[in-house]
Amino acid sequence: MSLAKVCITYRLEFFTPVHVGAGTGGRGFLDKYLYRERDYHQKKDYPIIPGSTIKGRLRAAVTALARAQVYGPEEACRETEDCPCLVCLIFGQKGNRRGHLYFEDARPTYNDIDRLVGVRPGIAMDRYRRVARDNALYTVETVGGKNVVFQGQIWGWVPEEKRQTVVAALKDAFAFNYALGFGKSRGLGWFRVQVVEEGSGKCGTP
Ligand SMILES: [Zn+2]
Repeated sequence: MSLAKVCITYRLEFFTPVHVGAGTGGRGFLDKYLYRERDYHQKKDYPIIPGSTIKGRLRAAVTALARAQVYGPEEACRETEDCPCLVCLIFGQKGNRRGHLYFEDARPTYNDIDRLVGVRPGIAMDRYRRVARDNALYTVETVGGKNVVFQGQIWGWVPEEKRQTVVAALKDAFAFNYALGFGKSRGLGWFRVQVVEEGSGKCGTP
């Protein structure tokens, strides 16, 4: 079986502020902080969108598409240990086999990104009763929104005969997604996406 390298660059162009966080709690007095990465050279940190977040969203979309047999009946997941389907190939299996692709974090393309970090107040809603909870005002750290671009790469080696399907599935999966992170229903995190297939030397190790 010969392997072929897949290398994809994706750009998420946000037109509303986005919050992709590490969960509640954090360093100060806000309720939800952005996920950040440390830049040791410049001795500062900056917001990122973790590759695992991107991977999770794409996995859900490719799973749905493969189940609908968009890529043919053979690509629907059998959920066995040695399943050769597209989902298992790209994303691996939970707690078992690793996928063939790496999902790198998406980083802002704008250097001075912290100037675009802000705080949004929100009101926590009761999920079941659909009313505001008592004392439920909270604050969310956001970044953006107009023209803020986060860029990341997905790459790895897949069986040659699957390469085109893998690339097509990833592009389809991105097209499935139009908002990311917390507060989507309230207008946070809306983006449009550009997905470019690159030459093999543009990703990871050559
Ligand atoms: Zn499978």
